[in-house]
Amino acid sequence: MILFSNPGAQVQAHRAEIDQAIARVLDSGWYVLGREVDAFEREFAEYLGTTHAVGVNSGTDALALALRALGIGPGDQVAAPSHTAVATIAAIEMAGAEPLLIDIDPVHYTMDPVALEAAVTPRTRAVVAVHLYGQAADMDAILGIARRHGLKVVEDCAQATGGRYKGRRVGTLGDVGCFSFYPTKNLGAVGDGGAVVTGSDALAQSLRSLREYGWRGDRVSHVAGVNSRLDEIQAAILRAKLPYLDADNDRRRAIADRYGAALEGLLARPAQRPDCHHVFHLYVVRTPGRDARIAALRDEQVGAAVHYLLAAHQQPAYLSRLAGADRLLETERAVSEIMTLPIYPELSDAQVDTVIDAVRKTARV
Ligand SMILES: *Cc1c(COP(=O)(O)O)cnc(C)c1O
Repeated sequence: MILFSNPGAQVQAHRAEIDQAIARVLDSGWYVLGREVDAFEREFAEYLGTTHAVGVNSGTDALALALRALGIGPGDQVAAPSHTAVATIAAIEMAGAEPLLIDIDPVHYTMDPVALEAAVTPRTRAVVAVHLYGQAADMDAILGIARRHGLKVVEDCAQATGGRYKGRRVGTLGDVGCFSFYPTKNLGAVGDGGAVVTGSDALAQSLRSLREYGWRGDRVSHVAGVNSRLDEIQAAILRAKLPYLDADNDRRRAIADRYGAALEGLLARPAQRPDCHHVFHLYVVRTPGRDARIAALRDEQVGAAVHYLLAAHQQPAYLSRLAGADRLLETERAVSEIMTLPIYPELSDAQVDTVIDAVRKTARV
């Protein structure tokens, strides 16, 4: 079966350097928040072109802590798309705030700025722009709306590490950028990990405090923080892999080009925003009869999947209880038609062609 993503293949591709990184940490005798985390934070901030990166335990924590550092909490509304990993919405509630769900633009699957502006209320304090599938949201429009309504802008970059919007790396456009290093992401660890990046000294200081019990280097809790630290082993592995991220993303883009050329007319291919560097965390197409098509592809040993089967407001835990859930027509339409084809840097051209042949064959189901 050709999987839609394959973190094991990535580990094998960099196995010697990952083994060395792990051995270095084991021999150091220091395992949490140490030299590797410091060095990774510096290298990652430099890669993105910003001043601070703060390593945390996951992408979900990165979002929740970013909102808390921005002073957002109970009584506040945070706008976000319902068409996202449920983590985006969970993080807003972890910060004590209330999600305000916004519909998507059906072409790029990212937040529709017109719907955002129509939904904003006096209680809305922030917006989470999700760079879904590897492509930046419509940031000029979102930043303009945020300015007009006094909203903080949090970028959810979990699926777009290394991607760019008009020449700038995602994560450096809003007030804070939040990253996930979950193993399947474009820059993946071998466990959980995340980071918040910002150009603000004050926000960085607040995040460093919040991630460790509200301490300020003195083991005294000045605010009610949490334990959300990045392990040394994960940081060392991320340092080993970061130098390959751009090449890996270029390979993802080359695979997307190969699919794009071959699949014309067979299904709706992903649209790329002009001036954006899409890093294809996922290759998501749209097709009627989606479920039958996935079953037929699986019979051909192609592991097509769906991201996401349910929008946040359709999940049992959130079922229509979230503000905005009643006007998400494009989201609900997309959710019933989208399908993810395999894409990861180690996928060979021969495997890509196998997927293409299978899609052609199943066009008749
Ligand atoms: C993966 C993901 C997250 C959460 O990251 P974790 O590290 O799994 O907590 C948040 N938002 C989006 C869009 C994601 O894809």
